[in-house]
Formats: sequence, structure tokens, C-alpha cells
Amino acid sequence: MDLAERDRRSNRAEGLVQDLADRGVVAVATSFVDNSGISRAKAVPLDRLPALAAWGVGFSTAFDYFRFDDWVAAPPGGQAPVGDQRIVPDLDRLVVLAAQPGWAWAPGDRYAQTGDPYPLDSRLLLSRVVDDLAAKGINVLSALEIEWVVSTGADEYVPAAEGPAYGLARLANASDYSRDVLTALAEEGVRVEQFHPEYAAGQLELSVAPESPVHAADTSVLVRSTIRGVGVRHGLRTSFSPKVDAAGVGNGGHVHLSLGRDERNLMAGGSGRFGLTDEATAFAGGVLEHLPGLLAVGAPSVASYLRLVPQHWAGAYACWGLENREAALRMVTGSSGSEEWAANLEVKCFDLHANPYLMLAGLVAAGAAGLDSGAGLPEPVDVDPATLSEATLEHRGIRRLPETLREALHAFVSDEVLVGAFGEPLVEAISAVRESELEFFEGATAEEVTAASRWEH
Ligand code: GLU
Ligand code: MG
Repeated sequence: MDLAERDRRSNRAEGLVQDLADRGVVAVATSFVDNSGISRAKAVPLDRLPALAAWGVGFSTAFDYFRFDDWVAAPPGGQAPVGDQRIVPDLDRLVVLAAQPGWAWAPGDRYAQTGDPYPLDSRLLLSRVVDDLAAKGINVLSALEIEWVVSTGADEYVPAAEGPAYGLARLANASDYSRDVLTALAEEGVRVEQFHPEYAAGQLELSVAPESPVHAADTSVLVRSTIRGVGVRHGLRTSFSPKVDAAGVGNGGHVHLSLGRDERNLMAGGSGRFGLTDEATAFAGGVLEHLPGLLAVGAPSVASYLRLVPQHWAGAYACWGLENREAALRMVTGSSGSEEWAANLEVKCFDLHANPYLMLAGLVAAGAAGLDSGAGLPEPVDVDPATLSEATLEHRGIRRLPETLREALHAFVSDEVLVGAFGEPLVEAISAVRESELEFFEGATAEEVTAASRWEH
């Protein structure tokens, strides 16, 4: 970023200040998501927005090594406290926060003090990976589903939204809270497509309209922050953890992906299975092939593997199938007549401990590798894989996905496509954070992991 660009950003921000002040904004926060999936923020009073937009705010480079519980998994060599970077807000995504009166927020990109893009920044990484694919004429659209629970307990989980799974009664019991969530998101310009009470006690879910991947990840951060903010105003605690209660069903973070070329959805109208085009087949084949390594960014915590088990609709098997909720890749065609806008691929095995930028960068890189190699897809699976015999699973090549973070990390560092896309410094930082979490939870029971991971993200 050169001085002319800094001037441009400063002028643009100057032009926004009065309107923001008129809307009651007194401070602007910007944040990035670290390698453990936590959003880290800094804020300035409104009159400092032009300076923030041009020069960013400082953040230690140690943040690439932060663990979910704020411990720093310091890299060897004693460099952890040395070095700085600047987080610069993306003004295109500046939002007045509806659940935090007086506040506005924008996601940030991290730059080195030289003005060069910071090589470990996940938002810039995702932009690059998406741009590479766009250079080949292919656009990606994505939407991230959010499942969460609300609790009246401070540390313990005490479900606040009572009532049966998918129950109209639960909606009535959580009516004012749910209305406030939807109102806040509408005020922020988030296009919610659906809201419902989920399976587990106190669990809710909403899905949003698809966007370009960077914007889909921004929206995921904004939606979660807004849900948390509404909860605070209702005296409720919010958890997006993949395992809130060791005995129950977890919170997923399913990812919807579709590909477009020349305004056409490549997931429909093709000659492949369920209408997939050859390009969509190759992309999906690449994603399926790289899922074991992708889990290290999509299901990045020890708690993730308490959720990712068969017969919990979490997608614990590396396979795909039409509307199969036990397959890691669920093909969705939509109803007859809606395929052109509805058909997409849902990645079910990921959860909301993921940094959404890293996770989407990994998915797009894996899909792009599938396109490059002309990957195919195996036979789709049309039953619950857990009901198949070992011999059938083996015969059909249907594998269980990694069952521990250790296994996923091993697959990740051995995956040349993912390592190549992320670059060594980022892979090293992600690995250090994962290793540190594995060490932290060594010998811990499911209850201990669940309790320690419940409220942080
Ligand atoms: N809660 C489930 C999960 O952990 C997903 C339920 C659903 O299919 O929406 O992913
Ligand atoms: Mg759901």
C-alpha cells in the first residue's frame, strides 16, 4: 500500500464520518481472525477513522501464535514479542452495529509496516486464492451456516431456549430474543434466508444468502458478533462451540459452495451426476480429496472432534451424496425447477471454531487443484455410511475422516496443495497453535475439553 492509496483511504473515511456521527456512532472497531479462530479487535473514536483507514492500528506479530485461551504458542527463537503489523479496515464492509449502539465495525486486512501485505493474513490469502480462480473465469459463491446455543448459566451450560428440536414451542419461548437477532441483522444489511430452532436443547440456527467468499467470511464474523451482542442485551450467554455439552449434538458451521462461469451456475445443468458440470465435478473431487488436511483449518480444535462423529449429521465420512446429511459433502440440487439458483455443495464436517477465511481459502485451493488435475468423484453414497459393513466401506473406498486433531494436523502438513497455497510461514504458525492446543488438552476428558472451549469463540 503506497502513500497515494493511504490518501485515498483517508479521504474516503473523511467522507463517512459525518453520516456515522448522525447515526450515533462514537467508535469504530476493526478485527481479524487469528489461527485459533478467535476474532481479535482494536477500536478508535470516530474522529480517528481517517487515520485508521489510512494507517491501520498496530498488532504484535505474536497474534499468529495465539491459542484460543490467549496463551501464546511462542515460536522457537525468542521472536514472539518482537515485530508489528498494521490492521487496516476494509471500508467497503463498514457496518453500524445494531446490537451495540454507538459502535461501527469493519473487518481488517493485515499489512506489514512497509505497506506490503502481511504474508500470514488469512483475509488477504482468501482474496488471492479467489482471484487466482477468477483469472480462469470461475467465480465462487459461498454462505456459512451458523448454529449456536444460548444459555442462562454463566459458566455451566443452561439452555435458555426451551422446547423440542425444531419446535414451534422453542420459537415461542425464545420469541423476543429471536426477533431481536433478526431485526439487528436486517438493520446491518445481512440477508438472512432462514432461521430455526435446531436439534439440541437451546440450539438455534440461521443461514444467509451466498456472497463472494471474502464477504461470506466477513458476514460470518459479523453475524456471530451480532448474535452475541443481542444475547448480552438479553442477559444470555452465547456459544458457537462444536461441543457445548459433552453428551449432546454439537454446533456445526456448514459451508455452502457454488461455482459460476459467465453468470451460469456450474453446479446445475451439466451432464454429470445430479446435473453437475465437468468443472463442478472436478472442483468437488478436489475438495473431497483434500478433506483430511482441510479439517485442520475447518475443524481446528480438540473440541471439533467431539462433534465430528457418525450419526450426528456432522458429516464424519469422506464421501458425498445427494441430500445425505451423514456425508461430509452433501450435494444439494434444490427442488425441480430451482436448480439454476439453488444447486450447491454443502461441506458439513466443519465447525465454527474455524477461522472462516483460512477455511474458505483451503476449500477454494483444494477445489482449484481438482480443476487443474481434472479430478473426478467416486460413486455417491445414498445411505448412512455408518450402517455399511467394514468390508463394504473398504470396497467402496469410503473412509472415516480424521478422528482427532492430531490426525488432521498430520494430513494438513503432508498436503502439498494446502501447504503450497498457505505458504510455509502460515503453515508453521497454524501447526504451532494446533500442537499447543493438543498439548494443553492432553489427557483431558470430553467434559473438560467441552467446558474449557465453550465460551471463547
Ligand atoms: N448440528 C449438526 C452439526 O453438528 C448439524 C445439523 C444439521 O444438519 O443441520 O453439524
Ligand atoms: Mg443445522
